[in-house]
Amino acid sequence: MENNQEVKTALVTGASRGIGRACAIALGKAGYKVGVNYNSNEAAAQEVVKIIEEAGSEAIAIKANAADLKEVQDMMRTFVKTFGKIDLLVNNAGIVKDEYVMMMNPDTINMCLDLNIKGYLYCSQQAAVKMFSKKKGCIVNVSSVSSVLAVPGQSVYSSTKGAVNSMTATMAKELAPYGIRVNAVAPGFIATEMIEAIPEEKREQYIKDIPLGRFGTAEEVANAVVMLASDACSYVTGQVLVLDGGLSL
Ligand code: NAP
Repeated sequence: MENNQEVKTALVTGASRGIGRACAIALGKAGYKVGVNYNSNEAAAQEVVKIIEEAGSEAIAIKANAADLKEVQDMMRTFVKTFGKIDLLVNNAGIVKDEYVMMMNPDTINMCLDLNIKGYLYCSQQAAVKMFSKKKGCIVNVSSVSSVLAVPGQSVYSSTKGAVNSMTATMAKELAPYGIRVNAVAPGFIATEMIEAIPEEKREQYIKDIPLGRFGTAEEVANAVVMLASDACSYVTGQVLVLDGGLSL
């Protein structure tokens, strides 16, 4: 927790696994009370809650499909009822499904757009309304290096992450007068279940292209999220911080 002040609260979407899990735990360890959103894996979400409680903070698991406005509204209601306010939203819940453009399935397009774009917009809207009344708040969006790097097979995914970068800048400008900062992190290859789904041969090829010679860890992304949310970055808004071991250079 930062010195002087009241305990902060953070809602992390898709926090039962991977990057969201690491963000929730890092924020809990930094003293935030944390909302651990999940879609289906309650046991994993409860494990994250337990880790945060053992670290001395408070947490609650909240089931909601972040792509469904009604469920997002209910999630925000539960979160604010539990912790009284929202200081930080981490928009993280996202999916990737690689398909070459000529074979693209409309269901894939809809699924990715619904969660990776609409979900971020729904959650941001619900959080911003609450933050507005306090004239203070922070949103960190989890984008991807695919937003700035052309990866064959990722037309849909990269479109959604490009949209995340654009919404980050626009929301930052719109919400700055109300003391709300909006930034994004754009991870490269991070060792989570999402990456484990990539065939071994392809993964080895990717590692060869990374100047730092390895995939990143979810904890390394979480560190950047905690930093962007902290007062150390109080003059930073509308930025996309790329965390990719040099891949996009
Ligand atoms: P992951 O390991 O696949 O975990 C996905 C998380 O999102 C899980 O907690 C899952 O919950 C949740 N989730 C899935 N659908 C949801 C929905 N409709 N509503 C709410 N939660 C939902 O993913 P990850 O690799 O950590 O990726 C997280 C974010 O980082 C994504 O936005 C992704 O695009 C971005 N990213 C990842 C990488 C990477 O290399 N891994 C790189 C760049 C960007 P359940 O457990 O309940 O299913």
